Amino acid sequence: MSGGRRLRRLAVLGHPVAHSRSPAMQNAALAELGLAGEWSYEAIDVPPDRFAERVRAIAAEGFVGANVTLPHKLAALALADRTSTAAAEIGAANTLSFGDGWIAADNTDGAGLIAALGEAPRGQRALVLGAGGAARAAVWALAREGAAVEVWNRTPRRAEVLAADLGATVFRPGGERGHDLIVNATTVGLARAGGDRGPALDTLPIDGGAVADARVVVDLVYGAAETELARLARGHGTRLVDGLEVLVQQGAASLRLWTAAEPPIATMRRAARAG
Ligand code: NAP
Repeated sequence: MSGGRRLRRLAVLGHPVAHSRSPAMQNAALAELGLAGEWSYEAIDVPPDRFAERVRAIAAEGFVGANVTLPHKLAALALADRTSTAAAEIGAANTLSFGDGWIAADNTDGAGLIAALGEAPRGQRALVLGAGGAARAAVWALAREGAAVEVWNRTPRRAEVLAADLGATVFRPGGERGHDLIVNATTVGLARAGGDRGPALDTLPIDGGAVADARVVVDLVYGAAETELARLARGHGTRLVDGLEVLVQQGAASLRLWTAAEPPIATMRRAARAG
């Protein structure tokens, strides 16, 4: 803190949250921007039954904003006084901003995906796997950018609801192949405690041929080890956008909202990947 000014505090709120790469990434960005003395970013573990109460408390404690991760993205939207179009249409918030007596909700997951792609998906056929919050953000952003989006989910009813909400169509196994873009927004590939690698890739309706045909594969799942889908994409020479790159880009979009400064992406990427 300099000149007696109040420290502008930021946080990521989750449960659990100790594993989060966001504090390392955001503090590296704040340092690079020369804001480290005035701004800080920390991880706060908030149990679901105390979420609304804790958010109101930190808003009153001098926090400027917070990222919100599992399992709080719906609750974050519900408690906000103001909601961006992205958060309202996706139906979840990953970014909160706190003002004088108000809480604003936004969602940068979709913008993060588009930034990580690095190219406009206009006119492309996209297949999004999953129907949870991450899938909703991906479908919303891709459809908004002009892609023709198909959705598959293990529980088909959820894919139908998502598709109807966000202007996509449902992909059924055995349907027409040849997607330009494949996005894994399921938890398949997410390593679990004790070294368990979780459900295998063959629970998803894609194989080596689908990956080989695609121009880009996005695996939102990230962890210490390379995912099976990432390995498959690498094996077929298909461009892979991994979950850490999307994490960096959604974090950069949140930081831009709070500070109005242009985030140093390369620094954030290095810090996110250093863990
Ligand atoms: P979520 O709301 O819990 O949704 C989980 C999704 O995974 C559902 O569609 C679920 O299908 C599906 N699923 C679970 N087990 C499955 C299995 N064995 N086979 C096939 N599908 C299965 O989670 P979320 O918040 O959307 O997150 C999804 C993934 O994206 C997580 O791994 C998360 O870490 C990652 N993510 C990454 C970023 C990033 O910035 N990189 C951001 C957000 C999320 P059902 O509906 O059938 O249960």
